[in-house]
This record gives sequence, structure tokens and C-alpha cells, in this order.
Amino acid sequence: KPRVFSGIQPSGGLTLGNYLGALKRFAMKQDEGIETIYCLVDLHAVTVWQDPEALRRQTREAAAAFIASGVDPQRSILFNQSQVGAHAELAWLLNCVARLGWMNRMTQFKDKAGKNAEKASLGLYAYPALMAADILLYHATMVPVGEDQKQHVELTRDIAAKFNHDFGVEFFPAPEPLIEGTATRVMSLRDGTKKMSKSDPSDASRINLTDDADTIAKKIRKATTDPAELPSEIDGLKDRPEARNLVNIYAALADMTPAQVLGEYGGKGFGTFKPALAELAVEKLAPISTEMGRLMADPAEIDAVLGQGANKADAIARPIVERTYEIMGMVRSR
Ligand code: ATP
Ligand code: MG
Repeated sequence: KPRVFSGIQPSGGLTLGNYLGALKRFAMKQDEGIETIYCLVDLHAVTVWQDPEALRRQTREAAAAFIASGVDPQRSILFNQSQVGAHAELAWLLNCVARLGWMNRMTQFKDKAGKNAEKASLGLYAYPALMAADILLYHATMVPVGEDQKQHVELTRDIAAKFNHDFGVEFFPAPEPLIEGTATRVMSLRDGTKKMSKSDPSDASRINLTDDADTIAKKIRKATTDPAELPSEIDGLKDRPEARNLVNIYAALADMTPAQVLGEYGGKGFGTFKPALAELAVEKLAPISTEMGRLMADPAEIDAVLGQGANKADAIARPIVERTYEIMGMVRSR
């Protein structure tokens, strides 16, 4: 049975970008008759500083967001990464397969480390090898992600191929990034050239899944745009990243194509379009945040779900990491 693996960092509150680029699609994958494994990647989150109490809360809140978005812990394996030790173990082995030159090309490290890369953690640099371990540990071949993670999934393919080649085995299958839909790269509401991110210092740059209706409406009203009306054809959005972003968000929320959205709103100004988008966003997100609130009232229940998921994940991952040790020549005698 083909396997899907994907993850989200509990590095803050989840955003509309995480919902449209990841969560919504994670839930849809469950209906395709494939095995779905979803992970709150807390080991990735600590590649940048996380306050311990906040990390715990964010992990539970992210789990609630998965469930509220339709990821069903009965049909999917849902767990947090650090509870399955094999992730860290395989990551080490793959650190020894990946090449420095490959890691040096990773744009996420450059973006996150900023100008003073000397001050970044070693973990932030090794992040893509841990991500390769996450995927390869389950022999997953399908990885639904946003556009920003394409490079890391491609690196995972390179690491898998080098491992297989170096040890003369056909052990790790090459995973495919699944980047589908109209919201594969939701942009910041303040800057149409920057990705919307949960770790952006500006709260106004993003819509959080837990924002109330007034906050959502206000953030969309204040979103940076040009003064022109919306065009009636997609081509007209080419040099208008902010306008294109809002149209894409509308399309993804409404399950329409951007062309259909422009069919409805072409020729209209943002004075008309923004309130319509705000209303749609509230309509789609309010049930999720209500359900998250309900789930968060019982953190013990969330922890139980993650523990059961971790047991199921471990049952798949343990034999694969053990086999990896064997292939590499390590004595296994207990
Ligand atoms: P951080 O700023 O901490 O990196 P993030 O918002 O980028 O947070 P991640 O946990 O790194 O979230 O990514 C989780 C998933 O969400 C990945 O599949 C990623 O591609 C997707 N994703 C993140 N941001 C966006 C976005 N703006 N548009 C579409 N998908 C996104
Ligand atoms: Mg990210």
C-alpha cells in the first residue's frame, strides 16, 4: 500500500498557509485509499529557539488543528516526532550520507539563518537530513507539501539514491513531492514577495487558524495591495503578486480556480473583493477554530492520541531503521 508522509513544525500557531498548503490536503489524502502518516515535527521546531512551555502548548494546539481540519487519528497515523526515536537515529545515519555541498544549496537555511549564519544552530543546517529521515523511515513515496519544501524533498531523493548506490541495495524508494492546488505558496499579507509563515515576527502578515472573525476581517482589509481593479483574465495578475495572492487564497478556500474567481470579481476593486474574501475565510476557518478550542480543553486526550499514533508509527519505523543499521554494517545483537 503506498504511503503518504508529511509534517508540520509546532513552531507557533498554524496559519492559513499551513491550512491550504498542508492540512486541508492531508485530510483529502485520507480518502484516496492510501496509508497516511502525519507528524508534528518537534525535533525540527527546536532548530530555532523554542520556549519549552510554549513548545508543549504549540504541539497540542497543532495536533488539535490537524484533527479539526479533518485528519482522523483512526484513519491516519498522527504523532509527534520526538516520541519515535527512530527519526533521530536515521537522521544521524543520513547525516553521514548527505554531502556538505548539497546542504549548502538549501535556500530555507539561508532564509532562516539570515545574514549571521555563524549564529545559526547546527540543527538548522542539518534540518533537511532530518526531513529526509522522516520520509524514508516509512518508505513513503508521496509527500504533500507547499512549494517551499520542494527542494527538501528533492534532496531526500538524492540522499535515498546515494544510500542505495553506496551500499548496493534497493532499499529507500524515491519520494515524490505532491504540490497541488492553487495555494501551494500563500504569501504574506504585508509583502507579496514573502511566504506567509507562522514564525514571521509580524502577526499582521498572516491569518492564524485561531484568529477571530474581526481579526481576520481586519488583517484582510489591511493587506497590502495595489490600487487597480481586479483583471478579468489570469494574465492580468502576472506582475501583481499581492492581488494574485488574494485571488489564489479565495480560489483555494472556495474550491474554485483563479479564473473562476476572476470571472466573478474581474473589474471589481478591492473595496468589494476584500470583504468578500474576509467573509469566505471566516466561514471556512470559524468551524476549525471552534473545534480546536473544544479539543484544547482536554490536553490529556490530545496527548493520548499522539501516544497511540507514536506506537503505530514506531511499529513501521523500528524495523526500517534496524535494517538500515544492518545494511551499514552495525552489529545488532539484542
Ligand atoms: P516556520 O515559519 O516555522 O517554518 P511555516 O509556516 O513555514 O513555519 P512549516 O511547519 O515549516 O510551516 O511547514 C509545514 C507545511 O506547511 C509544509 O508542507 C509547508 O510547505 C507548508 N507551508 C508553509 N507555509 C506555507 C505557505 N505560505 N503556503 C503554502 N504552504 C505552506
Ligand atoms: Mg517553514
